[in-house]
Parts: sequence; structure tokens; C-alpha cells
Amino acid sequence: MPIIGLREDQHLQPIVRRLAQVEEDFMNYTDHQRIERVWGAISAELTDLGVPLPTLEIGNFAGVTGQFRPGTWLLQVNASLANVKLMERANTNRKKEIFARLGDTMTHEARHCEQLWRCALLVITRKWLKDNIKPTTTQLQGIFEACPIALGTLQRALVSAPLSPASMDETAPWYDSIYGGGSGFRNINLWGRQLRPVVGGTRVGGGTEDIGGQFQLTEFARYEQGLAEEADAHATGRRVQELYLEGSGVPVQPLVGHVRPSGTH
Ligand SMILES: [Zn+2]
Repeated sequence: MPIIGLREDQHLQPIVRRLAQVEEDFMNYTDHQRIERVWGAISAELTDLGVPLPTLEIGNFAGVTGQFRPGTWLLQVNASLANVKLMERANTNRKKEIFARLGDTMTHEARHCEQLWRCALLVITRKWLKDNIKPTTTQLQGIFEACPIALGTLQRALVSAPLSPASMDETAPWYDSIYGGGSGFRNINLWGRQLRPVVGGTRVGGGTEDIGGQFQLTEFARYEQGLAEEADAHATGRRVQELYLEGSGVPVQPLVGHVRPSGTH
């Protein structure tokens, strides 16, 4: 399987360099400013790749480290990820871990943004190759009904260059996982039996309920690895940690990713 786009080292290295700068200067910035500075490097890479930039929202989201919302083209990052507590300031390894986790989470979500963009381009490219016409925005909205993509993004995809054959090969499993043959598997994984906790005799969750932090690093996180787009986003974030922590002696943290409600990534 080809590895194309944000997951390539050439696109991750500028992000890793920025993380190091922010860590070096961390005392000069607020939590929000640290996130914004890292985002500056990530958004430059997304722009370089032709991906429409999502809106960055920094906030306090219960049980969520970060998430990408394709319907509103919004990337949310929990402000607490950039918080360095007094006791951690003196501990170089703890500080490194904090910035590694921040870089992993933000790059993971940015990769989801690229994935959804390329899913839109995949559908348009396939239709073009088959019928020599492009689908309408209404057709695209129907195809992406299970996990809507922002209208502005679809409109931009319709006037953008088609995907290369290699990029189509890498994008197809993400598309199948989210919208195609894999989506049933996905629904079972995310919403299925025995995976959600029981509270007051009722199983938590449903199509719109945030299952929250209870699943972080538990069944949810493990099953999530079975989803092609999640495995890829986790590998992208993990690679940021590897590059950032190289030579430091600080180990890469597993499954830093995220917990997300339905319809987000
Ligand atoms: Zn994810």
C-alpha cells in the first residue's frame, strides 16, 4: 500500500521541528498559543498537499483529546494537551511526553481531514474515469450521507485535480471503511453489542451519543485499530512521536489517538 501525503516523513518533519521549538519556548506561551503554533506547521503541510484547511477550535471537550468533524470541517483540540504543570516543568522526560502526545493527536486529526478530502476526490475521480463526467454536489451529498462532508469542501473537490492512481489505492480502504462495505463492520465496532458500558441498566450510546472517555485505551481503542482510516491516522500520529522522541530515550506512547462521538474522526 502506498503511503502518500501527510503521513510521509517529508511532511511530518516540519511539524516535528515546530514541536521542538514550542517545547523549547514553552514558558513564553499560553496553552492555546502552543497549540496554535503547532497548528501553524500542520496547516502549512495540509495547504501544501492541497487539502482545504479546517477551522481549528481549541477548547475543553470532555473525554476527547482531539477530533475532526467533516460535516463542519472543524478540527478540535483539547487545550489541556498543551498544559505543562509546574512539577512537569523541571522534568525533561515528562515535558517531552506532553509535546509528543500533542503532536501525535493534532497530526492524527489532520490526517483524518486529509482522508475525508481524498474520499471526496476518490468518488469524483472514479466517476470521471468511468463516465467522463463529474457527479453533482447533490449526488455527492447522497454518497456521503453516512458521514457528511462539508458542502464547501465538496464544491472545492469538484474543481480540483483528480487523485493519482497511487493516491486512489491508498484512499480506497478509508472510503470502504467509512462509506462502503466496511461501514457495517465500523458500526459494529463503534456502536455494537458488548462494547459500550452499561449505566443504570441501560447501555450507553447510540448514533448520536458521545461514548466519552470510558473507552479510551480499552475495548474501543483496540477495536478502532480494525478501521482502515483509524489504523492509518494512528500510524501517522505515532510516526510524529517516533521522529520527535528519537534519541531522547523517552518511549513512544501507545494509542494516543482519540475517542470520538459518531460522525467525527
Ligand atoms: Zn482517529
